[in-house]
Amino acid sequence: MKKLMIDLDETICEGGYLEAVNAYLKTNYQYEDIPHYYVEDVMNEEEKEKFLDYFYQNVNIYQNVQVVPKALEVIEELAKYYEVYIVTAFVDKRRVKESSIMAKYKYEWIIQNMPYIDPKKIILTGSKDVIMCDIKIDDKVANLKGYGEVKLLMDQLHNRKYSLEELERFHIRRVYDWEQVRSILVKESEVQ
Ligand SMILES: [Mg+2]
Repeated sequence: MKKLMIDLDETICEGGYLEAVNAYLKTNYQYEDIPHYYVEDVMNEEEKEKFLDYFYQNVNIYQNVQVVPKALEVIEELAKYYEVYIVTAFVDKRRVKESSIMAKYKYEWIIQNMPYIDPKKIILTGSKDVIMCDIKIDDKVANLKGYGEVKLLMDQLHNRKYSLEELERFHIRRVYDWEQVRSILVKESEVQ
C-alpha cells in the first residue's frame, strides 16, 4: 500500500481560528476578508502578542471547527486503498511551551472524528518535511514542495496567489474539493 499523508487544518477541518480572532477582537471577519495564512496577521504586533496569550490560555479551536465538506467520508474510503497518516504541525515558535496544548487538542479531534485512522498513524510534528510519503494533501505550498509522487494542494484563499505554472514547477496539482481528491486517488489511479 502506498503511504498517503494528509494535513489537518484547512484541509480536513477549518474555521475555528477565525472564530477565535473574531471573539477576541469583537469583529466579524469572514474568510474572504483575510487572504493570509495566519489569520491573526490582521492585527498589529502588539495586539498579536496579547491575542496569543489569550489564545493559548482560553481557546480550543477544535471545539468550533467545521469539517471541510466530504473530507471525512472520502478519507475513510481512501484508507481502504492507502496507508493514511494524518500529519499536523503544532509547534508555534512564538509560544514554544504553550503550544504543547495544541498537540492534545488536535489528537483528541482526530481520534473522535476519524475513528478509522489508526492512532499510531497520527503524526504531531514540527517538521513535516522529513516525513516521506508517496502522496501528500495539504493547503500550504511549502509543505508540498519536497518529495512526493502525487501532491495535491487543497484550494484555500491564502494559496490562490500561486499560479498554475508555479505549482507545476513543483509537480503540485490544485484541487477544489474532496470529491476531486476522490476522483484523482481512487478513480484515476491504479488502486481500483
Ligand atoms: Mg493546513
